[in-house]
Amino acid sequence: MAEDNGEQQELERLRSLEKTLQLALDIVSEGIWDWNRLTGTVKRSARWYQMLGYEPFSLPETVDTWLELIHPDDHPATMAAMQRYLDGEAPLFSARYRFKKADGDYIWLQDKAKFVEFDAAGEPVRMLGAHQDIHHQVQAEEEQRQHQAHLERLNRELEQKVQERTRALADANAALAQQLALSREQACTDYLTGLFNRRHFDQLLTQHWYRGEQRPSAIVLLDLDYFKAVNDRLGHHTGDLVLQAIPALLRPHLRHQDLLARWGGEEFILWLPDTDGAAALRLSERLRHTLAEARFCRDIHLTGSFGVAVCRPGDQIQQVIQRADDCLYRAKRERNKVVGER
Ligand code: GH3
Ligand code: MG
Ligand code: MG
Repeated sequence: MAEDNGEQQELERLRSLEKTLQLALDIVSEGIWDWNRLTGTVKRSARWYQMLGYEPFSLPETVDTWLELIHPDDHPATMAAMQRYLDGEAPLFSARYRFKKADGDYIWLQDKAKFVEFDAAGEPVRMLGAHQDIHHQVQAEEEQRQHQAHLERLNRELEQKVQERTRALADANAALAQQLALSREQACTDYLTGLFNRRHFDQLLTQHWYRGEQRPSAIVLLDLDYFKAVNDRLGHHTGDLVLQAIPALLRPHLRHQDLLARWGGEEFILWLPDTDGAAALRLSERLRHTLAEARFCRDIHLTGSFGVAVCRPGDQIQQVIQRADDCLYRAKRERNKVVGER
């Protein structure tokens, strides 16, 4: 009788222990499975069925049930994870995969399992596993990934747009700078002869004038003789060609610091820095001679008249130019002549 009592108590203790164990398993997992390798059966907990929407214990208790419900796309990776555990390469079987519910939809599960019993030869005979529903977690991860990819795409597009705009701006800037340089050059240059125009000559001379006021310099005005006759006889275009040839004719006699410009029409002006009256007259004679000797297109002969003025201390630019013009006026009485100040 006392023995019966003892057995009864032991039985109750075991039942209570099993209940506790069941409760604990329910807390840590949503589905328990228990595979007996010897019988080939897989027992699954009632919650396992509930989690997937099946009637409790309604599916065959075989490994095939598991294999059939795994999403085909996740099959290879799951089998590989199992193989790693069986081969002793992993401390437990652990895999994430999609699993088919009773309504045909799939949910993401985390599956973890281990062998818990071995036979006398040490061969595993029982494996215990736990399923966890991680569907919402995986969905959130996927959304996060898509969101991140979307942001990265936007960022790339933005960077590309910025680069395109920067390139377009740089191109526009370069074109503008080129246009500006061209405009500046055009503003300074006589379009026909390529020489400085009168305005730019004035500017440059003004700059030099006040820098080197104490040093001697000379102004030479050159006016082509009877140029109107060239136009009248051979046409304005031929006249243009003659005017265009003048710079190349004069340049070889000039120094790099001498300023040569088209003063207007068929008139040219020279500023000769560091040059006294005698030197300016000598140069003008040489230029006069060169011009008279030259043969222009269509065998045109030309001469020029020169007025030479020397800068005196305290002179204004306009005064010197006026004196050179007076000399030119006097030279025109004879033409093909150089006249300097008396
Ligand atoms: P002079 O010996 O008195 O200086 O006689 P000229 O014919 O050279 O002088 P005038 O002032 O009577 O005429 C100047 C001529 O220069 C008239 C004008 O048509 C010509 N001329 C001025 N600028 C240009 C130009 O850019 N191209 C051409 N082809 N001719 C020009
Ligand atoms: Mg003239
Ligand atoms: Mg003339």
